[in-house]
Amino acid sequence: DRIIGSRSTQASVKSGVQDFFLPVGAQRPPTIESAEGIYYFDASGRRYLDASSGPVAVNIGHGNPRIHEAIANQARKAAFAFPLSFQSEANLHFTEALLALAGPGYDHVYVTSGGSEAVETCMKFARVHAVRTGQPQRRHFISLDPSYHGATLGAMSLTGDASMAALFDPIMAAGNRVPAPLTYRLPEGETAETYARTCLRALEERIAVLGAETVLGLVVEPISGLSSGANVAPDLYYAGIREICTRHDILLIYDEVLSGSGRTGKMFGFEHWPDHKPDLVALSKGISSGYFPVGAMLAPAHMVKAVAETGGFPHAQTYTTTPLACAAGAAVLKEITSNGLIDNARLMGDRLRAGLERLMAISPVVGDVRGRGLLLAIEIVQDQATKRSFPFERNAVGELGRIGMEEGIALYPRRTNGGIFGEWLMITPPIIISDTQVDE
Ligand code: PLP
Repeated sequence: DRIIGSRSTQASVKSGVQDFFLPVGAQRPPTIESAEGIYYFDASGRRYLDASSGPVAVNIGHGNPRIHEAIANQARKAAFAFPLSFQSEANLHFTEALLALAGPGYDHVYVTSGGSEAVETCMKFARVHAVRTGQPQRRHFISLDPSYHGATLGAMSLTGDASMAALFDPIMAAGNRVPAPLTYRLPEGETAETYARTCLRALEERIAVLGAETVLGLVVEPISGLSSGANVAPDLYYAGIREICTRHDILLIYDEVLSGSGRTGKMFGFEHWPDHKPDLVALSKGISSGYFPVGAMLAPAHMVKAVAETGGFPHAQTYTTTPLACAAGAAVLKEITSNGLIDNARLMGDRLRAGLERLMAISPVVGDVRGRGLLLAIEIVQDQATKRSFPFERNAVGELGRIGMEEGIALYPRRTNGGIFGEWLMITPPIIISDTQVDE
């Protein structure tokens, strides 16, 4: 205590992960003291409304004593059990609860420590399944540009972000990216529907170039998050990708790390298009709402059986399926389902969206309001009519983020690819939010 206490008071001594993000001398963010409901409190007692659930993760809000208790209870029983040696009640319980929500088509859950790992578990599982079912030539994944699938090299090879590709392509597997069905700033003469068809044609063309028999899977965020800000494609796109994948025997993999867990007004994003469900689903973030690092892959029985009966899935990490992660996940699922939070996300999402649309009517810098449920984003523009962004160097969303902090609102500004796809604020508060808090 003496050493840490004295270090933290010395301005010259740097410590913490902030050092990796901020130049020396830059103003540091406030120090968090506590968090409850939709609010954070800093060490000086200032309150901040969490308008983005952190990085769109804290779906059930902060400081929930039932989750604390569930984690503490499990820690007292057994904090750790390696899944290759022991089963845990917590894992069985979490799996059962998740599968009951997922419905037909999903029979098994593989628990990971986060979203990137959940995505990579899908990638490796798809590959092992292909090899074990006599299709070793299948080796390519196709994903969208822009997209975000995680920070580790495998997940990043799917991520469509030119600035990341410039840095990391030399040390990771080459990705195959096709245009995402964006709905804002469309090419001249295109509507959202015609552009979605253009994107489907681009996908078909890429499959043809690679050779359909070499493609393992198409990885898609059904409703985008950090890469393009809550983009929802026209319905025909979801039907289209399902049909193309089925026709070519390619797995359709939904990355629902951000769009799952009740945020969009359904437990899973895929429920918005129930006739076109994916084969595999990656989950994280809201599934444990920030109380513990948890991710998961949902998989169907026939795939798991084929892999399990031919030598098993050669993939496990030290923290795979830890009892603490499962206890946290199960408690969060119970919180989501027993308190009507999914309906609340839909109702409060409608209210928040209406408010943001009113803001757009009076503020020239709000160029678009989009999303589903409480997965919303507002595009920040210099000019509503031309949809032109502010110059990249200006970092207008960063400026709004700073103003937000001064006003007591923690926002999540985003812009990727050097700003070529624009810039926006994620407006994704915890799904426990009330109507008066939406208005605030
Ligand atoms: N996939 C999507 C859609 C995400 O938004 C994220 C994180 O933001 C990830 C994957 C990676 O998750 P994690 O940061 O937990 O590794």
